[in-house]
Amino acid sequence: MATERTLSIIKPDAVEKGATGDILRRFEEAGLQIIAMKKLHLSEDLAKGFYAVHKERPFYGELVAFMTSGPVVISVLEGEGAIAKNRELMGPTNSTEAPAGTIRGDHGTDIERNAAHGSDAPETAKVEISYFFNASEIVAPCEAL
Ligand code: ATP
Ligand code: MG
Repeated sequence: MATERTLSIIKPDAVEKGATGDILRRFEEAGLQIIAMKKLHLSEDLAKGFYAVHKERPFYGELVAFMTSGPVVISVLEGEGAIAKNRELMGPTNSTEAPAGTIRGDHGTDIERNAAHGSDAPETAKVEISYFFNASEIVAPCEAL
């Protein structure tokens, strides 16, 4: 499997409940390196732009309100199969269907308040990483990625 990068967001619900450290520990224990990180309170415009792919969906307005309701912790994770590995650690979108032991199963509440975001493909990972980070904010930038 190839070395990949993925964008992670610890969402406002998980940051508010103090789960940041637990979630970051899970990434590191799974062999994912944190190669960039920032804590931000997203503006409405930043959240709308990030989730623009969902702008026609009925939950878009609520999703933007949730994502701007408090600070988030955004990181770039690097490792073998990082995209799938992060999504496996998170569990399914709906927290009520996420098994115990997954991030969403342990820290999420429902389909919206689901504790974490992870990129879903190499192309989206690239776009999402550059949405939040300059090359100079990423440790040991790799030319190939
Ligand atoms: P994410 O993109 O945040 O990693 P995902 O890829 O598992 O999550 P998407 O379908 O991309 O799921 O949805 C983006 C986010 O929108 C979800 O994580 C969740 O917070 C919210 N969401 C998705 N479906 C619904 C829904 N039916 N009702 C309310 N919120 C939803
Ligand atoms: Mg998604």
